[in-house]
Amino acid sequence: MKLPPLEYACPASLSEAVALLAAGGGDARAIAGGQSLMPMLAFRVVAPTLLVDLRKPPELKEIRISADGVRLGAMVRWRDIEDDARLAAAHPLLKAAVEHVAHYQIRNRGTVGGSIAHADPAAEMPGICVTCDAEIAVIGSAGSRVIRADDFFVGALTTALEHDEIITEIRLPAWPANRRWGFREFSRRRGDFAMAAAALFYDQDAGGSAVNAHVGVIGLGDRSRRLPEVEAALNSQVIDEALIERAAEITSATVDAQEDIHASAAYRRSLAGTMVERALRSAAA
Ligand SMILES: Cc1cc2nc3c(=O)[nH]c(=O)nc-3n(C[C@H](O)[C@H](O)[C@H](O)COP(=O)(O)OP(=O)(O)OC[C@H]3O[C@@H](n4cnc5c(N)ncnc54)[C@H](O)[C@@H]3O)c2cc1C
Repeated sequence: MKLPPLEYACPASLSEAVALLAAGGGDARAIAGGQSLMPMLAFRVVAPTLLVDLRKPPELKEIRISADGVRLGAMVRWRDIEDDARLAAAHPLLKAAVEHVAHYQIRNRGTVGGSIAHADPAAEMPGICVTCDAEIAVIGSAGSRVIRADDFFVGALTTALEHDEIITEIRLPAWPANRRWGFREFSRRRGDFAMAAAALFYDQDAGGSAVNAHVGVIGLGDRSRRLPEVEAALNSQVIDEALIERAAEITSATVDAQEDIHASAAYRRSLAGTMVERALRSAAA
């Protein structure tokens, strides 16, 4: 289907972009890579009268790595993350997850900011943000604010963003050099959205026990979530095969999953356990 008639603006600065969104009320919308928005326009899922293209403000395209962690400008594309060799050490979990996002052509255009604003429950980036306690920096006509990832994602395709707010940056906390991590995803074909995925990491104390375990699941319910029961089972324990199997059981027993055309809720819960098991095994190897 053809797009509905609409106006297009490509402002040079963030302040201009915010002003355009604010003036448009709820009828103006930001566009980043267009990989989710263009299909939604074509299918008339959304019908803005103005698109505000975010491609020009240079500060949105930066990847900054420091002792505080990794900062991704909202217009950083999947391809930029794949091509940035520094991220293999600075945030291996992010790098591994992005390899599962969509297909080559989509990764050339799709952006991290677009993904988290779109908030698809099966998308990898929101899951990484929730698992890693990321912060989302946004700017709007009322000023700037920083939102914890867990507060940012409200539900399927729903976030805490106001209509005139633009995501500027995603802040991932520093990643210690000896951290153990794993990412596993199951989808029908490579590049499809996840039917279930697990993203996890833990650190180790002097005795080799896990501390600071973070376990997140993607693609099961209305948004990505951490699994506190599984994290509690892992913390202060040496991660061995029996504990990995126990973590998988707790995952399947406690995770909230929804049914859709691809899978029943029961199948998804079982799959989630398997993804956690495999991710933990790779972390412990
Ligand atoms: C066939 C196909 C398969 C895909 N598979 C996957 C997959 O496996 N995993 C996955 O994660 N994604 C997948 N995607 C989605 C893809 O990753 C998109 O690129 C991404 O979800 C949206 O990014 P975008 O830059 O294209 O955003 P756009 O489509 O431009 O925008 C999406 C939404 O975000 C808003 N927005 C964009 N940027 C900002 C900002 N900075 N501030 C505020 N609001 C903003 C827009 O207004 C719009 O509502 C797939 C897409 C397609 C078409």
